[in-house]
Amino acid sequence: MPKTAAVVGAGIAGLVSAKRLIEAGYQVEIFESTSRVGGLIASANLGGHQIDIGAESFAVAKNTVPELCAELGIEQLIVSPQRSDARILTSGGAHLIPHGVLGIPSDLDDPAVVDVVGADAVAAAKQLDSAAWNYPPEITIGALVEARLGRAFVDNFLTPVIAGVHSSDAMTLEAATVAPGLLAKAAELGSLVAAVGATRNSAARPGAAVASISGGMHRLVSALESHLIKAGAKIHLNRPVESLADLNDYDRVVLAAGIEGAAQLFSDLAAIRGVDAAVVALLVESEQLNELPRGSGVLVAADVEGISAKAATHVNAKWAWVNSELPPNQHILRFSFGRNGILPADTDALAALAVADAAKIFGVDDIRVVESVTQLWPKALVQSGPGHSVIVKRVKAALAADSRLAIIGAGLGGNGITGILSEGR
Ligand SMILES: Cc1cc2nc3c(=O)[nH]c(=O)nc-3n(C[C@H](O)[C@H](O)[C@H](O)COP(=O)(O)OP(=O)(O)OC[C@H]3O[C@@H](n4cnc5c(N)ncnc54)[C@H](O)[C@@H]3O)c2cc1C
Repeated sequence: MPKTAAVVGAGIAGLVSAKRLIEAGYQVEIFESTSRVGGLIASANLGGHQIDIGAESFAVAKNTVPELCAELGIEQLIVSPQRSDARILTSGGAHLIPHGVLGIPSDLDDPAVVDVVGADAVAAAKQLDSAAWNYPPEITIGALVEARLGRAFVDNFLTPVIAGVHSSDAMTLEAATVAPGLLAKAAELGSLVAAVGATRNSAARPGAAVASISGGMHRLVSALESHLIKAGAKIHLNRPVESLADLNDYDRVVLAAGIEGAAQLFSDLAAIRGVDAAVVALLVESEQLNELPRGSGVLVAADVEGISAKAATHVNAKWAWVNSELPPNQHILRFSFGRNGILPADTDALAALAVADAAKIFGVDDIRVVESVTQLWPKALVQSGPGHSVIVKRVKAALAADSRLAIIGAGLGGNGITGILSEGR
C-alpha cells in the first residue's frame, strides 16, 4: 500500500507541499475550503485583462520560486520588472526609494538618500552605523534602523516601505522576521548598511528585488495545479477541514491553510496575528500617465493627509506584459489598502477611494476610469510583532516531536511567497 498524505489548503504552500509529497512517494489528497486553488495568489478580470489581484511578484533573495518554475517547465515565463523606480510620497513630495532592503539603503552616499534626508542626517547615520553592534534578538526593524541610522531614515524610507509590504508599522515588527538574515549579517559586518549591500549582492537574480510571471502569478498556480493532477493528486474543492482529527487515517498531514485557517485547526498558532488588506485595480485612460510620473509606483507615507491607500502600483509601467496588452493611453493602477492592518470603515467605498486617491498619488489630473475591481483579503498578512519569533520557535518545537504533521506558511515563514516556500523545504 502506498503511503498517504492529506494537505489542508490549496494556496501556494499547500500546492508545493503536495508536489514534494508526491515526489517522496505519497498518494496525496488536497482539501480546499473555497471553490478555487491559489489562496492569496488570485487573478481578476479587468476590462478583459486577467491581472493579479493578490500577490503580484516574488522576492528573488533566494532561488526558491525560479527553481519551482524550472521544475514545472515555466522558467521562461519569469520576468523582471521593466522599471523598479517606485517613489515614496511624503507630505514633502515624492522621492525615489533608495537601492537597498525595505527602504534601508545599501549606500548612504546615494543621491536618492542625500536629497531626501540631507547631508547632516547622512553624516549622523554614518556615525551611528559604526557603533558597536549589541541588540536584543527581538528588536523591531523600526528601532534598529532608528538606532543605526536615525529617525529620518525610519520616517522617510523604512516606514512607508514596511507599510506597503507588511501592512504594519515598522516599530511593531521584529527585524529578525521581516528581514531574515539581515541581523546576523549586520552583526558579522558591524554595519547595517554594509549588511544591506551584502544581502542585495547575494540575491539569486541581480537587479530588482522581485520578479514575476508573464501573464500573472496566477499562471504559476495553474501550472502547479495541472502538474499535480497529472501526477495523480486529488484536489477536493469546497471541502473545508473542520478538525485535524478528521485526517487521522493519513500517514502524513500538511497544514497549509493560511494564517487564520491554520490557527483554527492548530491552537498554538492562534497567537500569530493576521491583519486585513485589500486591493483595488483601476483600468483608466490618461495621457499624462504615459509619462510614468511615479515610475513603477508609490508608497504613501503615514504623514500624508487626504490619501486612503497605503501604496499604488502603475502596473503597466512595472510589467511589460501588462503594457503590451493595453491600447494607447490606457493604464492599470493597483491600490493597496490596510495601513497597519486597518481598512477604511466602509469597504464598499474602496473603489471610490482609489479613484479619489489616483490623481493625488500619481500627480495627474486627466484620469478617466474605465473599470474597477476590488478584492478584500481579511486576516491575510502576518503581523510579526515582538515575540513573534518566540511563538514560531514554540510551534516548531511542538511540531518537531510530531512525525506526522507539518505546517507550512500560516505566518511561520513571514509574508512572502519566497520565505514561505524556503521555510517549507
Ligand atoms: C494583497 C496581497 C498582496 C501580496 N503580495 C505579495 C507579493 O507581491 N509577493 C509575495 O511574495 N507575497 C505577497 N503576498 C503574500 C502572499 O500572497 C502569501 O504569503 C502567500 O500567497 C500565502 O500562501 P499560503 O499558501 O501560505 O496561504 P494562502 O494563500 O492563504 O492559502 C491558504 C489556503 O487554505 C485554504 N483554507 C483555509 N482554511 C482551510 C480549511 N480549514 N480547510 C481547507 N482549506 C482551508 C484557504 O481557502 C486558502 O486557499 C501578498 C498578500 C496579499 C494579501
